Amino acid sequence: MAYVISSDCTKCGACEPVCPAEAIAEGDAQYKIDADTCVDCGLCADECPVSAITPA
Ligand code: SF4
Ligand code: SF4
Repeated sequence: MAYVISSDCTKCGACEPVCPAEAIAEGDAQYKIDADTCVDCGLCADECPVSAITPA
């Protein structure tokens, strides 16, 4: 299990620093979560202003 970021992402960058596993990185069109690194804590989802992050 891992959280995923949808195409609603506006690349605001708010999620990246809150991830304790450093699983979030900036991609070309949107931010991305590495599924193998994500520990499923949900902190990033709470931070996203456009609700683009959801459990997979
Ligand atoms: S759910 Fe937690 S571990 Fe996974 S990307 Fe979000 S903040 Fe990082
Ligand atoms: S907080 Fe939401 S909108 Fe901002 S970069 Fe992360 S996923 Fe994208």
